[in-house]
Amino acid sequence: MNLTVALLSEHASPLAAVGGVDAGGQNIAVAELALHLTKLGANVDVFTRWDDPSLPTLVEWQPGIRVVHIEAGPIAPVAKEDMLPHMDAFTEQMIRFIGTQSRPYDLIHAHFFMSGYVACQIKARLGIPFAITFHALGEVRRQLQGTSDRFPAERFSIERQTMLEADAVVALCPQDRQDMMSLYGANPRTIVTIPNGFNPEQFYPVDKALARLMIGHDTPEPMILQLGRMVPRKGVDNVIRALGYMSRHYGIQARLLVVGGDSETPDPSRTPEIGRLAHLADEEGISHQVTFTGSRKREELRYYYSAADVFVTTPWYEPFGITPLESMACGTPVVGSAVGGIKCTVLDNETGFLVPPNQPEALAAKLAVLIHSKHLRTLLGEEAIRHVGQHYTWQHVAEQTLALYRRIGPSKSVGPSPIHLPLLPAMASADKTIVLAPK
Ligand code: UDP
Repeated sequence: MNLTVALLSEHASPLAAVGGVDAGGQNIAVAELALHLTKLGANVDVFTRWDDPSLPTLVEWQPGIRVVHIEAGPIAPVAKEDMLPHMDAFTEQMIRFIGTQSRPYDLIHAHFFMSGYVACQIKARLGIPFAITFHALGEVRRQLQGTSDRFPAERFSIERQTMLEADAVVALCPQDRQDMMSLYGANPRTIVTIPNGFNPEQFYPVDKALARLMIGHDTPEPMILQLGRMVPRKGVDNVIRALGYMSRHYGIQARLLVVGGDSETPDPSRTPEIGRLAHLADEEGISHQVTFTGSRKREELRYYYSAADVFVTTPWYEPFGITPLESMACGTPVVGSAVGGIKCTVLDNETGFLVPPNQPEALAAKLAVLIHSKHLRTLLGEEAIRHVGQHYTWQHVAEQTLALYRRIGPSKSVGPSPIHLPLLPAMASADKTIVLAPK
């Protein structure tokens, strides 16, 4: 029987534009998972906080997928660090919505700790089983970021409680699993490791000359690409320092494209991280080598990855990291820091190189090797395409996820509340339905 699944993703909507501070891998993961689960026959509703009054409360996004906007807090953007106080309202509204549905959900798949909090309450009240993917762990962030981490202290106890209550906990990579066991005492028997993926219809190699033309950088200079959310954790400062080091010590004048931000043009007032990095490039004397582009849409990204000679990503914490997969799918080798998911997805010396985070000299040495050898880039690039195609398509991820769902669902729940509660004003306007173009 086909499953009916509620994907719960409080701050990361599949409809949002990605690349800024709060929208990135989780939005992509939820969107792609929904799309590929429905291809496998599941019915999917994605529940996310309503933050845009121009969108209706219920969106028929794709055949078999609805996005349900839950009113919890202001109908306006709220930083995810400030969202926890709205999660009780989210729970109540979601329970009301479930009460209006003729078919019960077989299970909930919660994404991020606040959705885990909501899923725990719903399981307690309606008996719906749930899986949780944390996407990032508070304890790891606390170790690495200390007091600069703005999330409320309750995050740790919520994560711990969610790991206890969940019917399954999805780790994105072996490091994620290890962190849950060592920092939270999670039961290894409830943890299942399922990675994130890439979409082969969007990410494939494009002829380099054509790709450079498409992105407006039609020059023969060596090109390094950094692409992702613009937050300090991504370690883009390390990349800029490495570029400065390469210029001073190896005489290599490579171009660095930095793609990402809260707008499609580089705007430090909207993305302060761009201002900080531009200042650093100035200090390193390499401003003329660095181009900030702002964010780019998904359908353009294969041109950026294909145009680059090397893709670089050196975060100090990365629970998974989808961008290295996208780059490898386009045949561009990756130099990545040996942390989290990158340790598994990037095969050292086979599809790129692994370097320690926060060590610009080590990064510069590997970038220089790749910039000097087209032959090596071709070899690594070919292996990269083969490697990700075999292990990391979203279809493959969805198949593993569906197998997990079948283990923990269908719901042995008591079903939705027999008393159909009146809709709150926000949900009462759920009759408006629009169809959005595919992402
Ligand atoms: N991304 C995008 N446009 C941009 C910048 C980023 O579509 O301008 C996408 C990128 O292609 C990737 C996701 O955002 O799919 C980032 O995911 P990742 O797992 O690498 O990092 P996270 O955002 O989870 O920290």
